Amino acid sequence: MSMSMALRHDWTLEELQAVYDLPLLELVFRAASVHRQHHNPREMQVSKLISIKTGACPEDCSYCAQSSRYSTGVDAERMMDKCQVLDIAARAKAAGVSRVCLGAAWRSVKDDNRFDQVLDMVRGVTDLGLEVCCTLGMLNTDQAQKLEDAGLYAYNHNVDSSAEFYETIITTRTYADRLNTLENVRKTNLTVCSGGIIGLGETPTDRLKMLQTLAAVRPHPESVPINILSKVPGTPLADNADVPVWDVIRMIATARIVMPKSDVRLTAGRVKLDPTAQAMCFLAGANSIFSSETEFMLTKAVPSPSYDADHALLEALGMTLREPFKMGRPQDKRAVTA
Ligand code: SAM
Ligand code: SF4
Repeated sequence: MSMSMALRHDWTLEELQAVYDLPLLELVFRAASVHRQHHNPREMQVSKLISIKTGACPEDCSYCAQSSRYSTGVDAERMMDKCQVLDIAARAKAAGVSRVCLGAAWRSVKDDNRFDQVLDMVRGVTDLGLEVCCTLGMLNTDQAQKLEDAGLYAYNHNVDSSAEFYETIITTRTYADRLNTLENVRKTNLTVCSGGIIGLGETPTDRLKMLQTLAAVRPHPESVPINILSKVPGTPLADNADVPVWDVIRMIATARIVMPKSDVRLTAGRVKLDPTAQAMCFLAGANSIFSSETEFMLTKAVPSPSYDADHALLEALGMTLREPFKMGRPQDKRAVTA
């Protein structure tokens, strides 16, 4: 297997399988070596998720607490107002967070007053000196451009799994819809955040096909979240089998080797990993996490480690927090590309 430094977009399934199937410690060693060539291994990027519009989503994503199709106990909430968002963001900044991710339980962005409110929130949080990411469902290039103009740093839109397996998890939109939104975002200077979930019932081949799809994006998504399914009572996947920790580590390490420059983010489900397992994921190349002032990530159905627990973990590991905008601002690229 070649350990070439060049960024590749043409990984074959056989090559990916050969990486994923390496003896675990050999895989972690190789991923850690790649990680050190492209990143400061002592640095961790920490994000905070804020659900600006929770619940009552018309989509049927089988894992999601916010789909209106399932009784999950997550109530529909009104859109948060800007002051609330700025308060949470300011506290996040004080806790060392570099990026705030604004999530809405929408199928897609509509050009209405609510989008204007989101643009206003993006401006406000950016003015606090934080990177802002939005995850608002499908969007067109005009809308992505408006977000860039408001100062947005990143747009999140996960492919979630392989194209084939995706159809068994979500029926209200297609994989092509998903890729189309990523293309729309790539037409702007925004950075792309896209990854998926393990534990949906997919095979290891589905996981590798997902990494193959993500690595085919040019340039690679700047951020690649790897979620471990949070089993939400009331959803069709509530009784899925747990993902073995070894699979989590293999997935992180393979993502790191395949997309060496990207931030690989250990996201939902991290709370289930003990500190040693998390440290192993960090060694294998995860350099980004979500942390929260409460014990929840996006909704009360998805738990998250707290700022305090994460500070203690990072301190024990001798790790430091990445400053906002260390990689520059997407808007700076305008001068270069104009
Ligand atoms: N509605 C928008 C969309 O779907 O793009 C944004 C919000 S959605 C909650 C963002 C991502 O969170 C999903 O793409 C999925 O990967 C992840 N996610 C949601 N529920 C999850 C769960 N129960 N376990 C793990 N990951 C989950
Ligand atoms: Fe809606 Fe997003 Fe949840 Fe799917 S993942 S049901 S689109 S909020």
